[in-house]
Amino acid sequence: MSAPNIDAIVSLAKRRGFVFPSSEIYGGLGSAWDYGPLGVEISNNIKKSWWRRMVYERDDMEGLDSSIILNRLVWKYSGHEETFSDPLVDCRNCKVRLRYDKLEPIEEERWENDGGKPPTQKVRFKCPNCGSTDLTEPRPFNLMFRTTIGAVSDADDPSALAYLRPETAQGIFINYLLVQQAMRRKLPFGIAQIGKSFRNEVTPGNFIFRTREFEQMEMEYFVRPGADEAAHDEWINWCFDWYTSLGVNPNNMRLYEQPKEELAHYAKRTVDIHYRFFPEREDEERQWDELMGIANRTDFDLKAHSKNPVGEEGKRLNPDSTEDLSYFDETTKERFYPYVIEPAAGVNRSVLAVMMDAYSERTNDKGEKRVILKLHPELAPIKVAVLPLAKNKPEIVEMAKGIKRKLQPAMRAVYDDTGGIGKLYARQDEIGTPFCVTVDHQSLEDEAVTVRDRDTWEQERIKVAELKEYLRKRLGSSC
Ligand code: ATP
Repeated sequence: MSAPNIDAIVSLAKRRGFVFPSSEIYGGLGSAWDYGPLGVEISNNIKKSWWRRMVYERDDMEGLDSSIILNRLVWKYSGHEETFSDPLVDCRNCKVRLRYDKLEPIEEERWENDGGKPPTQKVRFKCPNCGSTDLTEPRPFNLMFRTTIGAVSDADDPSALAYLRPETAQGIFINYLLVQQAMRRKLPFGIAQIGKSFRNEVTPGNFIFRTREFEQMEMEYFVRPGADEAAHDEWINWCFDWYTSLGVNPNNMRLYEQPKEELAHYAKRTVDIHYRFFPEREDEERQWDELMGIANRTDFDLKAHSKNPVGEEGKRLNPDSTEDLSYFDETTKERFYPYVIEPAAGVNRSVLAVMMDAYSERTNDKGEKRVILKLHPELAPIKVAVLPLAKNKPEIVEMAKGIKRKLQPAMRAVYDDTGGIGKLYARQDEIGTPFCVTVDHQSLEDEAVTVRDRDTWEQERIKVAELKEYLRKRLGSSC
């Protein structure tokens, strides 16, 4: 089972401290959300897992953390100043602003051309807010957030203009040569980066799915031209496998081949991994949306930031760059611009997907419905909760607190005595804690505790001396 809709996660998230609406005491800020005490743990665990698998467990990878605000010329030559826009339409009736490419077509009008030419089709759209079809023509809206650098008197001073990065990728391209030389890398190799990106989205929404500030996990993999297609396929599989290794049901994911007309101007091929974010929608096709994308960006970016390439009239295409980012292959004695494969994932969308996928409900003996978040142990915010059966018995409380302290260096453990044992179990199930350890009267005599499994509700008696090792084994080595 998985969540019936995003709303099930929204209410759980607020109630249990995963995600809060940002600035709520001032009426909120549309599309901004804050990770609470448990949400920050899931988000960190996702990033840790990605970094470990991407950087530490491979031999062809380096990490990087570049600046959010870069020289404006980076965005000029990357093409973002000119092309990083969404098509925007206004509804003339209710004045709402909409993304043209996300509108649902409502009808197709066909009419015959006089000259016996094939019939032409006209697709019409209606405003999802008021139903009016009186929409303006689409026009591009640049998504980059603008800011000014330094103490300027004029907010529009072009010499002070800068942008908050809309993707982390460009920070990698402009550091490519420095990383390659400093780390003595030969092709193929990759550079991975995790960090915040900002897009002034026209229509943010669907909880943390589309926000104006979000975190990305991106990697640029540099290969010889000609080796790009095979590398692209490998990375598509790698990404799909990474999500399934974190417990995401493959039936809730699919690969989506972007058609030519959807491709970014620099891309030769892009395959997205879709997740079933909207299972409640009747039309199966509309249940899916993008979790991450894996693009073949060709040599576009390294060429664009290089000083050497010249245009048709023999003029340098980039007169501002001071470096050439081509690669010299010592064995073949060839010089070329590497091709780049880019797996780009969103942290927010990954958090949402793993939470939706882990969501399940179960009815207990008393007929009460319980939510159980069956998170992969690696992602669970808390790995083990130590609970005293009787909180008015100081010896039991002391023993439970002592066990928590001993477990903590090895795994995220909490102590909780704020309710009866049934309630405490239910609360831990709801936040995805894989194991609860209960200390009871018997424990004082036999130095053993009860370990309860979140998913099966089965209980096992374990000696305190063996507890850490037992939990480590059951949680797996990645926790
Ligand atoms: P979309 O088509 O949904 O706007 P995109 O194709 O523009 O996404 P990319 O530029 O490929 O997105 O960015 C890579 C990943 O970054 C996306 O797959 C997504 O997980 C994440 N991402 C992009 N924009 C947002 C956003 N506004 N809010 C949250 N995550 C985002």
